[in-house]
Amino acid sequence: MKTALVTGASRGIGTACAIALAKMGYNIIINYNNSEEKAIKLGEIISDNYLVDVMTFKADVSDKIQVDEMVKTALERFSKIDVLVNNAGVSLQKLFTDTTFEDWSNVIATNLTSVYNVTHAVLPCMIREHSGSIVNISSMWGEVGASCEVAYSASKAGVIGLTKALAKEVALSNIRVNCVSPGVIMTDMMSSFSEEDIELIREDIPLNELGKAKNVADAVAFLVSDKASYITGQVISVNGGMVV
Ligand code: NAP
Repeated sequence: MKTALVTGASRGIGTACAIALAKMGYNIIINYNNSEEKAIKLGEIISDNYLVDVMTFKADVSDKIQVDEMVKTALERFSKIDVLVNNAGVSLQKLFTDTTFEDWSNVIATNLTSVYNVTHAVLPCMIREHSGSIVNISSMWGEVGASCEVAYSASKAGVIGLTKALAKEVALSNIRVNCVSPGVIMTDMMSSFSEEDIELIREDIPLNELGKAKNVADAVAFLVSDKASYITGQVISVNGGMVV
């Protein structure tokens, strides 16, 4: 049986990815940092509805020691990790001139260094198995940049660069590495936006609606499936046409 690790699975897009992968028959490792109750609840939902094993693990993905411990524990339990979804992330809306070094470091550590941490811990197992699929969650702002989101945009552009380079490096090990680049998806990450702001954003989206976490999870499920067996190093945008 195959196993998938989803970082930041306690809420939003990560939760939708964990459910989509459980539906595909993967055992699921639910990583979370603060939202313990939600992570445990998700584990119960998955165990109750799908015939898969679940492990729930608290680890701050920006902390290499915690990540190494999580992956070690997961490998003791499941012996291999076939799919890794690097999803955990934080946003930051601030003028660049107001962005402190601490703000900058936190966003880069959580959104980009985390992808190094988790991938670095999981890859040896995938190389040994000569098989694996990694999907990194970037953002349309990593593709085109957003005003007042310089640190966030830089972190997500870094995720795209990491994806493309690593895809070339590990392709001969039969490991595929891709990105999903969401547009505006209605999760807690959008909770600071007013209804009016959301309405204005909707008007800018050619498909005329905000995205759902499931829209992103569907793209992740496709990328890890055999239907995407010839796809690596790519960025699949899920943004309703907002960035083309
Ligand atoms: P969300 O609802 O705010 O959820 C964020 C998730 O990341 C939570 O499960 C949170 O876990 C986890 N997380 C944050 N920091 C972490 C850390 N240091 N260690 C471990 N887990 C951590 O956000 P979302 O909208 O689902 O976003 C998921 C991903 O999609 C992010 O990478 C985000 O940048 C990207 N994205 C989102 C949108 C959007 O419009 N929503 C658009 C483009 C890209 P805890 O609560 O347990 O701490």
